[in-house]
Amino acid sequence: MQQEERIVKTDEEWRRILPPDVYRITRQGGTEAPFTGKYHHLKAKGIYRCSNCHLDLFSSETKFDSGTGWPSFWAPIGEDRVKTHIDRTLGMVRTEVLCRRCDAHLGHVFNDGPKPTGLRYCMNSASLEFVPTEK
Ligand code: FE
Repeated sequence: MQQEERIVKTDEEWRRILPPDVYRITRQGGTEAPFTGKYHHLKAKGIYRCSNCHLDLFSSETKFDSGTGWPSFWAPIGEDRVKTHIDRTLGMVRTEVLCRRCDAHLGHVFNDGPKPTGLRYCMNSASLEFVPTEK
């Protein structure tokens, strides 16, 4: 499947391609300040893609209002879209979520989400690009 093909670029290439705030968050593991991103409040129907490689990651169907100020989802479109990695920075143990195709840092996943999965994928708006569903 074409979408699963890996996309690999050097750090310098990503730095050239991406806006500085997107580069900092997706390529250096940054976090945007809560309530400052484009998508935490968005309720429109559509697909959230990776902002780095444009892979479809999340659907508005699984988006919920977590109250955190970051766009939150209870599941990705498919398990083949993301991968996780244990993150021990900042004195915490968290599960980092990355794009499976290009390794962009997306955010973290927590176990306090709603049914049916009980998961909360807490994402950075800068890691995503929203594409509205066509009518
Ligand atoms: Fe990606």
